[in-house]
Amino acid sequence: MNQKRPAFPIKLDSLSADKSKAKPVAAPARPAVKTVPAKASVQSQTPKNSPARVTTRPVTSQGLGMDSAAVRARMVQKLAQGGIQDAAVLKAMGAVERHRFVETALVNQAYEDTSLPIGLGQTISKPNVVARMVELLRNGAAGKLGRVLEVGTGCGYQAAVLSHIATEVYSIERLKGLHEKARENVRGLRLHNVHLLFGDGMEGFAKGAPYAAIIAAAGGNDIPQPWLDQLAVGGRLVAPMVTPAGHQALVVVDRSAQGFRHQVLEAVHFVPLKSGIS
Ligand code: SAH
Repeated sequence: MNQKRPAFPIKLDSLSADKSKAKPVAAPARPAVKTVPAKASVQSQTPKNSPARVTTRPVTSQGLGMDSAAVRARMVQKLAQGGIQDAAVLKAMGAVERHRFVETALVNQAYEDTSLPIGLGQTISKPNVVARMVELLRNGAAGKLGRVLEVGTGCGYQAAVLSHIATEVYSIERLKGLHEKARENVRGLRLHNVHLLFGDGMEGFAKGAPYAAIIAAAGGNDIPQPWLDQLAVGGRLVAPMVTPAGHQALVVVDRSAQGFRHQVLEAVHFVPLKSGIS
């Protein structure tokens, strides 16, 4: 394949981070014990102490008929034009090869701002929505977040994005088929800080708590209590939730020493949060 790639990532320094709302979320201490057994099965990749990084591999094997870095750079530019300001988020979105997470037949749409089916009736969110939620989650933090819990691994794409902005990512999926697909997708990507769990994310994952941030990719009628319990003081939760008015909206919950503060933001369309495993 043609090795002459355009310069990438695009220069992100010019994309100013929104410092006005900068409020670093303290990264809680890492767990003393790194094993994560319990009911959920865990996949973490070794060596564990290496920095999170997505390897650059030839893209022809999955049929993306052009240089994926260039296509991704355009996607990142569009995200920035669409209002994503956090340079760390744009960098992460530029680093993760989204085409590796979608079906071969959909590879040519991988960098369009569209949600795509990932099997078992579930969808991968639009890049725009992923970037928006991760930006909200970071809340202008100066460095990486500490441990992050993602509910709804799906194909593993968002977990891969999160691996760039957090020290550890715990991502839980209730559908065995998707959990396995995500394992397959991240295999070989050297995402050493991503731990894929099979289980009911409505229970959160107590073994990794407290979390600097919790993000959900599926929406229920309220925020499950375990998520609130497992959120660190100074931490932030971002999730879709069905509002009393009957439509789904993004909800941000900040936990401080004084308690929880909820904000309801824009309307969104996520798959439903369901209990149990299948
Ligand atoms: N972040 C994912 C999006 C997947 S869609 C990605 O990048 O692909 C949301 C996922 O949430 C679905 O796979 C669905 O099965 C899962 N889900 C719904 N309820 C859940 C629960 N209680 N626990 C864990 N996963 C859940």
